[in-house]
Amino acid sequence: MTDSPDVVIVGGGVVGCATAYFLTRDGYSVTLIERDSVASHASGFAYGGLSPIVGIIEDDPVLPLSEASEAIHAELAKRLPAESGVEYEYRRKTSLALATTPAQVDDLMEAYDWLKQHYKGVVQWHDEASVHALEPRVGPSVSAGLLADRSGEVEPYKFTLALWQAAERAGAVMRNAEVTGVTRAAGNISGVVLGSGEVIEAGAFVLAAGPWMGKATEWLGIDMPISPLKGQILRLKAPGDPLAVSLSWSHNYATTKPDGLLWCGTTEERVGFDETPTPYGRDTIMS
Ligand SMILES: Cc1cc2nc3c(=O)[nH]c(=O)nc-3n(C[C@H](O)[C@H](O)[C@H](O)COP(=O)(O)OP(=O)(O)OC[C@H]3O[C@@H](n4cnc5c(N)ncnc54)[C@H](O)[C@@H]3O)c2cc1C
Repeated sequence: MTDSPDVVIVGGGVVGCATAYFLTRDGYSVTLIERDSVASHASGFAYGGLSPIVGIIEDDPVLPLSEASEAIHAELAKRLPAESGVEYEYRRKTSLALATTPAQVDDLMEAYDWLKQHYKGVVQWHDEASVHALEPRVGPSVSAGLLADRSGEVEPYKFTLALWQAAERAGAVMRNAEVTGVTRAAGNISGVVLGSGEVIEAGAFVLAAGPWMGKATEWLGIDMPISPLKGQILRLKAPGDPLAVSLSWSHNYATTKPDGLLWCGTTEERVGFDETPTPYGRDTIMS
């Protein structure tokens, strides 16, 4: 028991690696168990957009959480590259949400009225002419836009890797294995069972298995339906200058990343655990 870590984390995506980073910084011993490799699923292939206003509706309790996350990102950017040796391309970038239908204009205007009072940054309304002046390449169907100056971006794979590298440098240990269940003692979780049958005990456990959490909740006897939502992204060599702002419209978005490519997304597909890029994804995003 003396060799047991304080905390076992299951899953090496951004959630598991961030947990490992903050726990090791606070002096806890950590073992992270990942069956594939760090950021080998959604965390390594996401868009990496940090937006405190996407999806925000009036009185949404997510806004304070988003603003706190934004502050943590700004703070991390000052030290995590040096702590990890990984430059993960964090940067602040203005975002412009676009509306193409009267209903979307109404929704955006409602969001604008609310954000004017609550957003701790610059938020501006742009009519059709000023949207096209800001970014002449947006399509003719765009009739309004909402600009916010406090968005940001990271390269998602490098960001997750940076969190893990810094945690590892501070003493965290990675086990490459699949967790298949848990053990219990006196009514509490006392260990996780690996595919080999080995049990790793710890003082506390963090399950950060992303869309596989449905399986993990079965181990705990909790009925919590969790299923994956597939999204695809295109990285394009696009002609012309980089986009000056990052753009979003309904559940789509586009931005020029530091790699010089135009990253565009996305699809929302209920197809189970299928991570294959498809012609459907390409054609949907291009249309
Ligand atoms: C196309 C796309 C674009 C996105 N864009 C954004 C964006 O702009 N901004 C944003 O904030 N979010 C975005 N997201 C969402 C974001 O990527 C996810 O919310 C995030 O990566 C989830 O991280 P996670 O650590 O929970 O899960 P994951 O990255 O799925 O990691 C879970 C890990 O657990 C491991 N695991 C699972 N079960 C076990 C087991 N039994 N034993 C051992 N290991 C196990 C898996 O192998 C995996 O590595 C996007 C997602 C997609 C698909």
